[in-house]
Amino acid sequence: MMSTATIISQLKRSGDRLTENRLKLINILAATSQPLSVLELVKKNSSQPHKTTVYRELAFLLKNNLVEEIIFNDGIKRYEISSQHHHHLVCTNCKKISKIAAKKICHHAAAQLKKTGYIINNHSMEFFGICPKCQNK
Ligand SMILES: [Zn+2]
Ligand SMILES: [Zn+2]
Repeated sequence: MMSTATIISQLKRSGDRLTENRLKLINILAATSQPLSVLELVKKNSSQPHKTTVYRELAFLLKNNLVEEIIFNDGIKRYEISSQHHHHLVCTNCKKISKIAAKKICHHAAAQLKKTGYIINNHSMEFFGICPKCQNK
């Protein structure tokens, strides 16, 4: 995962203004291992920015590939700091979201998809189940 320092230096290099809201958003996203929705991002921000401010900042970070957008099966968009290719494990009980690097699955899927004739540019994969913690309850 990109560190906050890397992101900030990247933004400075490209001459972008590092507004307080932008900086706070980056810090909040960097401090959590879970992808966050706009609502959660507003809640976690002590200065309680308006939702439109958060949307605007996210659009900027998405455009610069510093943040990725993920849509799970609940249809809610969540955001996380860009990182190496990975997938998500979602516990349907406690809603915890974990990352999993499962390159083998991707390679396997790519081989299968070649037959379709499509040029695949990107993909996302989410796995739903019960996490070990919930299994032991
Ligand atoms: Zn769980
Ligand atoms: Zn993959």
